[in-house]
Amino acid sequence: MTDRDTGAALKASSPRKAWNLFYSAGSLIFNLFSPSVDEKLTRSRREICEGCALTDPEDRRLYRKIKGEAYACGVPFFKKMLRDPKREGCGCYLNLKWKKRFTGCPNGLW
Ligand code: SF4
Repeated sequence: MTDRDTGAALKASSPRKAWNLFYSAGSLIFNLFSPSVDEKLTRSRREICEGCALTDPEDRRLYRKIKGEAYACGVPFFKKMLRDPKREGCGCYLNLKWKKRFTGCPNGLW
């Protein structure tokens, strides 16, 4: 039985939670301040997310519309700061993340 089966990853220790918070906050800072990529790469990343079938522990797709044409990877970061980015999504605002150079999918899909 794996961590995924037991949900043990969500009952993470304090150091693990601190790391997750650090990772998520760091990703957010990179999103805000890194330079932009060209439209072709932005579109390519978007297409990967649109086709992403990964789900969170509640079996909801990580790729989700949050409002209007705004999309996020999992529950938006500010609604849940302590998380396992691989299993629950990074919480990033994807419309911004797709355009930024020093960003990436928490599951390595782009
Ligand atoms: S960033 Fe990665 S895990 Fe999140 S929705 Fe896009 S492809 Fe899926």
